[in-house]
Amino acid sequence: MAMNFQQFAVAGVQQLSPYQPGKPIDELARELGLQEADIVKLASNENPLGASPKALDAIAAVMPELALYPDGAGFELKRALSEKLGVQPAQITLGNGSSDILDFMTRVFVNDGDNVVYSQHAFAIYGLCAKMVGAESIVVPAKNYGHDLVAMAAAINDRTRIIFVTNPNNPTGTWNTAGELDAFLAAVPERVLVVLDEAYFEYVADADYPNGLDYLDRYPNLVITRTFSKAYGLASLRVGYGISSVELADLLNRVRPPFNVNSFALAAATAALSDHEYVAASLACNNEGMAYLTRQFTELGLSYIPSVGNFISVKMPEGVDAMVVYQGLLQEGVIVRPVANYEMPEYLRVSIGTDAENAIFITALRHVLSTLSA
Ligand SMILES: *Cc1c(COP(=O)(O)O)cnc(C)c1O
Repeated sequence: MAMNFQQFAVAGVQQLSPYQPGKPIDELARELGLQEADIVKLASNENPLGASPKALDAIAAVMPELALYPDGAGFELKRALSEKLGVQPAQITLGNGSSDILDFMTRVFVNDGDNVVYSQHAFAIYGLCAKMVGAESIVVPAKNYGHDLVAMAAAINDRTRIIFVTNPNNPTGTWNTAGELDAFLAAVPERVLVVLDEAYFEYVADADYPNGLDYLDRYPNLVITRTFSKAYGLASLRVGYGISSVELADLLNRVRPPFNVNSFALAAATAALSDHEYVAASLACNNEGMAYLTRQFTELGLSYIPSVGNFISVKMPEGVDAMVVYQGLLQEGVIVRPVANYEMPEYLRVSIGTDAENAIFITALRHVLSTLSA
């Protein structure tokens, strides 16, 4: 008899199903018999401009050191972040993507039988991290697809260890104002850790959008996470960070695997941080693409959730199955993201691409929708 190893897996892992990423370009190219260049991927909120040229130069400079372990302390990147953000290097925890920090938080603070709180439609990783450590997830109903911070604070109970706030949220693109965040942080007991996930921070221009850093001194239970995967265009290198009190950063660093951020990621992130031109171009491209796509959706009679991120969730017409549209778009070489697993089965999330990519997507969407309603 073959051994059933699942029975030996820790309880949390037995119940886990892996995170579903967007479909890779090469996979679809193989399926359709197309070249990778013919595929448009707007499925994972990646930066459509490619990496910053400064990041590419920094990577080339690291090549001769390929055989060496990276700087496990991330000295240069932490110094650059510290200068830019006005925090001490010791307040920064580097992650293999900011997802790493979310994982560290649950592993450091959440015991079997504890719970974490997050919003309906929130980023899927929180639930996965919680399950892994045997914790319960309290999922608070969203309000107009956004976080209901009042209800979230009210959902905290004696076993709550972490509350996750995504601002703006993925996949809805919704966000909470400074006033809402002020009231929320004041309402959360200090023993409950607040993780403020600001993966799309750089994209938001609204004057009422709060900068989590402004709250750090007042709230020692606050951890902010940010990433180089989106506006800084380095998703493949996997580099993100947490910002917190020195005390919390020390705890997070105890579970951080040694050398979790590689030399290319460290060098590229440090260089990208100072490439203001690249970030400005990324934001301009995003604003233009967002305006174009929302205009087109309106013309097509499609409703959407107004988004401040680099993606937007668009609702399929009544009676049209979003999965069928998703499949139809794949046949046209366009990859978007179904979000049924976020309790949004009638929506598709599309990342904002270059002008050319956005236009290809819209042409394909028009075509697919016309075949479905004909
Ligand atoms: C993309 C994303 C992240 C960042 O992921 P990385 O691990 O840094 O690539 C974190 N939170 C949300 C909500 C995201 O959408």
